[in-house]
Amino acid sequence: MSYRVTLIPGDGIGPEVTAAARLVAEATGVAIDWEVAEAGEKAIRNQGTPLPDEVLESVRRNRLALKGPITTPIGSGFRSVNVALRQQLDLYASVRPARAIAGEGTRFPETDLVVVREATEGLYSGVEHWVDRDHTAAETVAVITRKASDRIVRFAFELARREHRKRVTAVHKANIMKTTGALFQIAFEEMAPKYPEIQADERLIDNMCMQLAKKPEEYDVIVTTNLFGDILSDLCAGLAGGLGVAPGALYGDQIAVFEPVHGSAPKYAGQDKADPVAEILCVELLLRHLGENEAADRIFHAVWETIAEKKVVTYDLALPGYTLRPVTPSSCSAMAREIARNVPRVDPHAPLPRPATLAHALDPHLES
Ligand code: NAD
Repeated sequence: MSYRVTLIPGDGIGPEVTAAARLVAEATGVAIDWEVAEAGEKAIRNQGTPLPDEVLESVRRNRLALKGPITTPIGSGFRSVNVALRQQLDLYASVRPARAIAGEGTRFPETDLVVVREATEGLYSGVEHWVDRDHTAAETVAVITRKASDRIVRFAFELARREHRKRVTAVHKANIMKTTGALFQIAFEEMAPKYPEIQADERLIDNMCMQLAKKPEEYDVIVTTNLFGDILSDLCAGLAGGLGVAPGALYGDQIAVFEPVHGSAPKYAGQDKADPVAEILCVELLLRHLGENEAADRIFHAVWETIAEKKVVTYDLALPGYTLRPVTPSSCSAMAREIARNVPRVDPHAPLPRPATLAHALDPHLES
């Protein structure tokens, strides 16, 4: 049997990192039939729109997509494809795991948390206007509904239960945003008692940023509204090693779309230079969603081993200050081939080795 999955290569580095992800997916032996659909700049050139109907139809039909990043054109009149996809397919839950792979690139090698972000409303509802003719004032409306708050909070608790995670933290600003913030807070407080085995607590967004910068290892699942989630998930990606290694997924009730946290990085487009790991780990999440856990574990272990070995890694994982020893950077495609080569070799059940990290070098008293 093979799975049919829509593949949206996207813009900038998108075609390179999605090609890398396909290569690694093939190495698992799980049969995937990719249905390629063009969105973004290529679609604007060929079809006059960045999000042709065929793309939406393909994703609706297959209910699964692997997506590369798509450039948001500035000043062209086109809406963001990413925001439009989420709204049109009702992909309400943006899930971004932040795991410090091989403890590299971070002072926080124990980071292992998930940001669950409401992805259809809040300050990204698209309701905004100029207040006066001279454009000296503007308003953006934050729409928060009880229905969307209930379903994202339930999603976060269900994820915690499924992944045997112990704690869900709601992040809001209900002390200042007395209606929108409070509505989200009440939804969380009324849902929490239905999951008595999971610790539930709350943080104001500003305090949460400080807490994460000091001790991210204490957090497990974070659930929050659209704008706060957008910012927190990039912050957590940075804590866990950078945008090059941060995967993500968007879930609706019927459809799941897997895409990295990073954007199209136009300055690296066509150079075979970008880190393919974030897109490759999107395939790991896709396979887990399909119940192909052994294949998913193989990908995670192969990525871990490749990064820990540091023989074939892209420039971002070879930067001075990021790694303990000098490393010559490899290309995107070379790193993908190395990970694909490791996929059948790794033992997906073995404990993951934790090499000495920058954090240990800076603080020799830290335990390995
Ligand atoms: P970006 O994520 O593209 O780049 C930010 C920085 O991270 C840059 O220095 C870039 O070179 C680096 N970087 C990103 N991905 C990398 C990778 N795989 N390997 C190594 N380095 C990497 O963010 P940006 O510059 O703000 O956005 C560029 C475009 O992407 C914009 O048009 C933006 O709207 C779009 N974007 C799309 C998505 C999406 O499709 N989901 C997400 C974010 C941004």
